[in-house]
Amino acid sequence: MAQRIKIKDLFEKQPIGEEITVMGWVRTKRGSKNVAFIALNDGSTIKNIQIVVELNANNESLVDKATTGAAIAVNGKVVASQGSGQAIEINCTTLEILGEANPEEYPLQPKKHSLEFLREIAHLRYRTNTFSAVGRIRHAMTFAIHKFFNDKGFYNIHTPLITGTDAEGAGEMFQVTTLDIANPPKNEDGTINYKEDFFGKPANLAVTGQLEAELAALALSQVYTFGPTFRAENSNTTRHLAEFWMIEPEVAFADNNDNMDLAEEMLKYCVKYALENCKDDLEFLSSRLTDEEKSKPQDQRSMELIEKLQFVLANDFERITYTEAINILKNSKPNKNKKFNYIIEDWGADLQSEHERFLVEKHFKKPVIITDYPAGIKAFYMKLNDDGKTVKAMDILFPGIGEIVGGSQREERYDVLKQKIEQFNIPHESVWWYLETRKFGTVPHAGFGLGFERLLLFVTGMTNIRDVIPFPRTPKNAEF
Ligand code: ATP
Ligand code: MN
Repeated sequence: MAQRIKIKDLFEKQPIGEEITVMGWVRTKRGSKNVAFIALNDGSTIKNIQIVVELNANNESLVDKATTGAAIAVNGKVVASQGSGQAIEINCTTLEILGEANPEEYPLQPKKHSLEFLREIAHLRYRTNTFSAVGRIRHAMTFAIHKFFNDKGFYNIHTPLITGTDAEGAGEMFQVTTLDIANPPKNEDGTINYKEDFFGKPANLAVTGQLEAELAALALSQVYTFGPTFRAENSNTTRHLAEFWMIEPEVAFADNNDNMDLAEEMLKYCVKYALENCKDDLEFLSSRLTDEEKSKPQDQRSMELIEKLQFVLANDFERITYTEAINILKNSKPNKNKKFNYIIEDWGADLQSEHERFLVEKHFKKPVIITDYPAGIKAFYMKLNDDGKTVKAMDILFPGIGEIVGGSQREERYDVLKQKIEQFNIPHESVWWYLETRKFGTVPHAGFGLGFERLLLFVTGMTNIRDVIPFPRTPKNAEF
């Protein structure tokens, strides 16, 4: 057989008249007594190539085995397509079955499957149009993020996944231990003796790489992390995973305004990159979403996907303070009519996702950045404003998702930070090294965390975070 060509390259080159070989998985097969049409996909593109096989006594039993899900190799001539829909097809000369897929057992028969069902067969769901499209976009967004930062002169740093600090302040942690949990070594007072544990003290999976990223930024000026993050949040929502990927830039000689500019520029860069490089996949996901939405009442339908992405590119994000947000919410209809589950009464209340979504989807109808939150509801490391009660935080809220970015200018003043650490009851021995950076050559600096899967929810139009990571980890779920 000739050397294999990927289906994506085949559609780009359109080498009409040439003998080529393609390999892939059968999506569908139809036909008559004399001829079979096989739609073949190899994952390089959402498009299938049509294989035309003239049936004869020699190949009939072979073609019988080329059922949905089977892997095949096809040698043949590229010709202009007779049918509509695609420019080229392949007239098969040799067909080889690489791996059969028994139609009695193969669960992905060509019909509409629910996303819930596909989650149960996550080992096969990459073979659907939806998940292959999401997978390719996930790759493109990974690449875009590295390119964005690299082109700006940022350095990618690798922060530890196992941490001895339990004061990262971002959520519940998973403990890492080699102790026998059925029979752990004990101290005299009955507590567990962690001196005998692997690290000689309790250790956890990191909920963020920020603190270490700050150490790097205070030497390399501009850095970012892009790695997995673990949170034992027992919240079974469509926006939370126990294992997710986060991008955390950290910049020295920068304030919270620079921080917001960077985040907005980065989000727009990613959206633009997707529009320019993932056209076929976005068109597929867009029509998929439009189909889904048909069952909803007109006023609850969201904007068409590609239109929504273009809209975000074309508009500045709204920037408001927490105090302004509270005033808007207090005077809003759902607050007055007690439609919110949490009624906003006083300044200082934490914003729930229903409030965030009201601001983004109903009030401003575009992405919103909220700044200057009350110090009490934000992490200890955020820089205190001169008012003494708010901090230079910034959260970015997106339509349909809520919080996508959380960040702040960091407290660079040694005394103020030390006091905050005491106020928050954080043991000195777990953050002494962090505090030292404020003693030696401290400078204003800022950074944020972008949840990669939340960005993917926005770009793909998928509505459940379990569908934008190949193998989701959520409460009671670690299959595959
Ligand atoms: P939320 O209030 O939505 O739980 P958070 O305030 O805990 O978010 P941060 O600690 O600021 O979030 O984390 C930074 C970003 O990481 C968030 O803006 C979000 O995009 C993402 N993120 C946080 N927790 C999760 C999670 N469990 N699964 C997926 N992404 C997450
Ligand atoms: Mn959280």
